[in-house]
Amino acid sequence: MTAALPPSSKHVPERTCAACRRKRPQSEFLRVTRVGGKWDMRAGNRVGRGAYVCADTPDCWQEKRLRRAFRAQAAEIAEQLQNHQKVPNQNHSAPDARVSPEVSHV
Ligand SMILES: [Zn+2]
Repeated sequence: MTAALPPSSKHVPERTCAACRRKRPQSEFLRVTRVGGKWDMRAGNRVGRGAYVCADTPDCWQEKRLRRAFRAQAAEIAEQLQNHQKVPNQNHSAPDARVSPEVSHV
C-alpha cells in the first residue's frame, strides 16, 4: 500500500482574502485571529482560527466587504485594518506640550 501523502516541498501556502476572496501568498495578507470568540487583529499569537485580508488593498478593509466574514465585528475589524495602515508614530496626536517660555524682558 502506498500512503498518499501530499508533497510537502516548496509549497507556498495560499490564503484567501476574507473580503475579496482572492488567493494570494500568506505574506501579502494581514491576519485577523479569532481568540475567545472575538476577532482581533492585534492578538499576535497564532492560536485560534485565522482570517486573512489583503494587506495592500484598502478596498478590502471596508466594513461592508468584511461583514460576511466578521459579522457583527466587521466595523471593528475595518477600523483595525485601517489603523494598521498608519505608521505608528509616537508623536502622532500628542498635543504640543513643549513649553516655550517666552523671555520677556521689559
Ligand atoms: Zn482582498
